[in-house]
Amino acid sequence: MRRSGHAAQIAPSAQDSLKKTSRFQVASTVTVTDDPTKIVCAPQASEINVDGDIAQVRDKYESVMEIIRREYLRQHSDPWVVAYSGGKDSTLLLQMTWEMLTSLSSVDRKREIHIVGNDTLVESPLVIRHLRKTLAAIATAAISCNLPVKTHITKPHVDQTFWVNVIGRGYIPPTRNFRWCTDRMKILPTNQLLQTIVRIHKRAVLLVGTRKSESANRRRNMEKREVSGSNMNPHSSIEGCSMFAPLADFEDRDVWLVLMQRKPPWGGTHRDLITLYRNGGGGECPLVLSKEDAPSCGTTSPRFGCWTCTVVNKDRSLRGLIDSGHEDADVFECLFDFREWLIELREDDRNRQRVRRNGEVKLRADGTPVMGPFTLEVRKQILVQLQVLEAETGKELISRSELEVIYDIWRRDQVSEDCRMALHDAAISGI
Ligand code: SF4
Repeated sequence: MRRSGHAAQIAPSAQDSLKKTSRFQVASTVTVTDDPTKIVCAPQASEINVDGDIAQVRDKYESVMEIIRREYLRQHSDPWVVAYSGGKDSTLLLQMTWEMLTSLSSVDRKREIHIVGNDTLVESPLVIRHLRKTLAAIATAAISCNLPVKTHITKPHVDQTFWVNVIGRGYIPPTRNFRWCTDRMKILPTNQLLQTIVRIHKRAVLLVGTRKSESANRRRNMEKREVSGSNMNPHSSIEGCSMFAPLADFEDRDVWLVLMQRKPPWGGTHRDLITLYRNGGGGECPLVLSKEDAPSCGTTSPRFGCWTCTVVNKDRSLRGLIDSGHEDADVFECLFDFREWLIELREDDRNRQRVRRNGEVKLRADGTPVMGPFTLEVRKQILVQLQVLEAETGKELISRSELEVIYDIWRRDQVSEDCRMALHDAAISGI
């Protein structure tokens, strides 16, 4: 089928617990032990041979660890919230945070650390599986190691999911100029959790894995906001929340070097992560927490984004997985085709209404209309095809509660459409 900042001092008692042991130890042989069930509650020594490259990144790693540790030991009880997307940067941030925590004595592990991942409900299947698996491993390991760590997965409100907006309201699949999805599916759900944490504790510190070298745009943004690896910046929209980006000056290569040298302390290996990057192409759609971050969502490539992402022209991530002969390549192929079909629908004016949902008609300078949402007919067609896709892939792609919201929107849209037609007929017949 074609479907197509805190300035408080560090507690003096805590100074003693600052452990400055190098995390990287040069070994003459490679002795990787892959026991996926092994949880490392204490700082681990690298078991892999290191060379000149790793020696270079060691100093950077140690100085960032020191900054993270110093921040955690400040004399206040503001909880930390670590933003975790499943990608390499947030994985490294998580790993360094965990290693910092386990380097402290238990009396110094006072502040809660919340690890937050987001599920847009249309995430790429491998990515969401990896994110859920990692967060579950972290939750188990935190209990075993008696760490003050909690995990959360945020989701969009049922009224604001991808399918409710596309199939229910007829929003066109997102474009660069009409990227309605990031706010609704990523920023709002995560910010709601952050606001709850700030409400309970009065303040919170949000740790993000953003790096200047991710893109020219990211560097400009971070420099404009004077973000460095050692300072706190106010959150753009949540009062009482500070942002901390300790990896700001890490290069791509630094991130990989550290991850390839060290196994995750919550157990397992970084192999899944490395495979995800190896098989896909391009960049990633990170955990987006503010509008300033939004430009990187869905622009370069959505590897860590949604399988439905139509902001990019080609989904190099799914394509990469199909081409690599992944065992689920058939499923990915179906998803890939469906996404392409959504783009085709969007680009054909016949599938779209002239009148927008607010009742306005927008005209270009030459008088031609800028087309609005999908017609009700097309929305119904998309739902039928999505259900066919569910049968083909054996995956639940839309939930019952989303369907209920969609049917409700359709009912209301049908009533307004009937009213419009009645008014139109009355005007024509002169009643
Ligand atoms: S990956 Fe694409 S569809 Fe998903 S939130 Fe980002 S821009 Fe939107």
